[in-house]
Amino acid sequence: MNCTLCPVNCNTDRQLKKGACKCGALPVVARVSAHMWEEPCISGTKGSGTVFFSGCNLNCRFCQNSEISRTGKGVEMSVGQLADLFLAVADSGVHNINLVTPQQFSDVIANALEKVKHKLNIPVVYNTNSYEKPQSLQRLCGLVDVYLPDLKFYSPVISKNYCGRADYFEVAIKAITEMRRQQPVNVYDDDGLILRGVVLRHLVLPSCVEDSKCVLDWVAGFDKTMPVSLMAQYFPPHHDDKYNELNRRLTVREYNNILEYFYNVGLTEGYEQDPESATEDYVPSFDFSTYEQLTENIKNKDI
Ligand code: SF4
Repeated sequence: MNCTLCPVNCNTDRQLKKGACKCGALPVVARVSAHMWEEPCISGTKGSGTVFFSGCNLNCRFCQNSEISRTGKGVEMSVGQLADLFLAVADSGVHNINLVTPQQFSDVIANALEKVKHKLNIPVVYNTNSYEKPQSLQRLCGLVDVYLPDLKFYSPVISKNYCGRADYFEVAIKAITEMRRQQPVNVYDDDGLILRGVVLRHLVLPSCVEDSKCVLDWVAGFDKTMPVSLMAQYFPPHHDDKYNELNRRLTVREYNNILEYFYNVGLTEGYEQDPESATEDYVPSFDFSTYEQLTENIKNKDI
């Protein structure tokens, strides 16, 4: 059947060839590990069990995982193997199963979770770029405990230039509204680890302070109880001749400007990051070619 899973609507028969997201019908996983660098309520002390999916339905110029998002590099597996992988991650002692860049596989992820959700004793986190259809997200209702959506851009000009989609903001806010409908209240355990809810992420980009302010305006009008993770970790993954403003890191002044605005619009719940921490050292390795190598790496912490 031709794919219209996400708003790209490329209508590709993924049984026969790859869609615009660089993915065929079966899930492809590029890395599994205990990740220590998510927000404290997600990584905790034992790490978040990240499952990195290959491909992507956006084309962000500054993608920090382009090695897998642009190429589809990774290990292809059946839905049954993906379900077993989720069980193995849960058995490894991490705080949660963290599905990274899952949107181009949301249907097969739902199929896999339906098989094993009742056996999972930790939350399932859905870590998405938010370029998704609400009806696709509805398949995940009851299967995903925590949504971790990006809200990357406000301006259609900026989103067209930087990720190829002028409608990014309009699409993303509808998707985030559906996520909050499914998980309307954030619930944490005694150690502050999230069990259910939504944590919104915004990566502050160099020279985009006004755009970031518009994003925060929307959050403040939507739901002030929804935490916002204001990320400062941008670094230029390569030199971009067309968009020179992306060829530098964020300044402390830019980040502090956004942080001040966050409080000015009445937001109080969230996480901040040190702009000085931006480094490509945080980009993990994706050198796995077999299912066994992936599952073996579950025991390793990204530190
Ligand atoms: S998920 Fe991939 S194949 Fe399906 S519509 Fe989106 S880009 Fe096209």
